[in-house]
Amino acid sequence: MKEFDVIVIGGGASGLAAAISSARRGAKTAILERLSRVGKKILVTGNGRCNFSNTSLKKKKYHGTDPAFIRYTFSQFGGGQIVEFFEELGILHKEEEDGRIFPRCDQAGAVLDVLRYECQRLEVVELCDREVSTLSKQDGKFEVHVQNGEKFVSDRVIVTAGGKSSPQFGSNGSGFALAQKLGHTVVEPFPTLVQIKLDDGFLNHLKGIKIEARVSLYASENLIDTQEGEILLTDYGISGIPALQLSRFVHHPELKGMHLTLHIDQFPELQFHDLKKLIIERFQKLHYKTIQDAMIGLVNKRMIPPILSFTKIDKKMICDELNSAQIDALIHQLKDRRFKINGTLSWRDAQATAGGVATKEIDERTLESKIVPGLYFAGEVIDIHGDSGGYNLAWAWASGYMAGLHAAGSIQSKKRRKK
Ligand SMILES: Cc1cc2nc3c(=O)[nH]c(=O)nc-3n(C[C@H](O)[C@H](O)[C@H](O)COP(=O)(O)OP(=O)(O)OC[C@H]3O[C@@H](n4cnc5c(N)ncnc54)[C@H](O)[C@@H]3O)c2cc1C
Repeated sequence: MKEFDVIVIGGGASGLAAAISSARRGAKTAILERLSRVGKKILVTGNGRCNFSNTSLKKKKYHGTDPAFIRYTFSQFGGGQIVEFFEELGILHKEEEDGRIFPRCDQAGAVLDVLRYECQRLEVVELCDREVSTLSKQDGKFEVHVQNGEKFVSDRVIVTAGGKSSPQFGSNGSGFALAQKLGHTVVEPFPTLVQIKLDDGFLNHLKGIKIEARVSLYASENLIDTQEGEILLTDYGISGIPALQLSRFVHHPELKGMHLTLHIDQFPELQFHDLKKLIIERFQKLHYKTIQDAMIGLVNKRMIPPILSFTKIDKKMICDELNSAQIDALIHQLKDRRFKINGTLSWRDAQATAGGVATKEIDERTLESKIVPGLYFAGEVIDIHGDSGGYNLAWAWASGYMAGLHAAGSIQSKKRRKK
């Protein structure tokens, strides 16, 4: 049996940040990690480049039962402190589109390296292949049991075990079970930042096509949200940042049972009548061409046959012969193509978890449990998730760092009082 001041359960982004701040405050700290090494997920973030924060960590970029929960943490350890934290460890940064912050060297591996080296410098004990199976508190001390039979004891525990997204990188939902056993409520988790499945026979013809578009999600004909950017059409549905951003609505409990549709507008910069004018003028100019040839250069070439087939327009028809109803049907395909939503890809493909340990049961100022004193939470295990753009890692570093500070600080002040 080994004893520590602070045990961190899960060596992901939030766990590494928590261990660093805890050890910097003088606490004897250990990380227990279920995989063979820490930080596996960090390596795949931002396509291997690690979009580790954003210049604008606003509440509107976060979701969950109470997104305002993030405010206090970011007021103490916000975007500036995150960048400073990494600069101090040696990571130069750069800003890209929409305030996304990356390491200047474009390497997620560099981010993980500096975190690990700082843990080593601070003598944090890193114990891998240790999946925590039970956690209990007796006589003011936590007992932490690992699946291989080992037992650890500590004054404080920080649960940074992540959610359920991408279990191949470690987070398999076991953090939720640990919290529940200690009396916490877990808001039903569902995958988010994940590709959306669409029900449409034409997708097979469209797979692999990338287009700039405005994508809108409707629930029973009511507009829920709109996103713009590059999308990728696939045989199962749609991928790309706009699709990932909208995915949080697909399993949202408030939209359960509603008919969800996705509307794709390939010409968001034009109103319906402007696009109609443009197309009529184009077809007048190219009046001698077949409709199939006249559409080349207007949209991705591979889209022309399915669009014509869907609108039942003969591809050999000459532009001159097209009537107004057929032109309207074409415009509808370009500006308001509707697809029935059929769910999302699985947890394996999800970048984040919606739901998690209920924020109302956690003190927003310290991240300590309101149910079990001495127990702390940070990162994705909490019922907070962010948009794509560096928001999830920013939350992981900030909440991890603050939980570590408070966990270690509370032991030190107790020891000071004893003296
Ligand atoms: C492919 C991909 C790309 C992403 N890209 C970005 C990006 O560019 N920017 C961004 O902001 N966010 C990104 N994210 C999201 C971001 O990575 C996560 O939100 C963030 O890593 C969460 O950190 P965490 O420490 O809370 O959880 P995790 O990183 O999931 O870490 C949890 C750790 O706990 C361990 N663990 C779990 N249960 C136990 C247990 N019982 N005992 C011991 N250990 C346990 C796991 O093995 C894991 O190492 C991406 C996610 C994915 C999957």
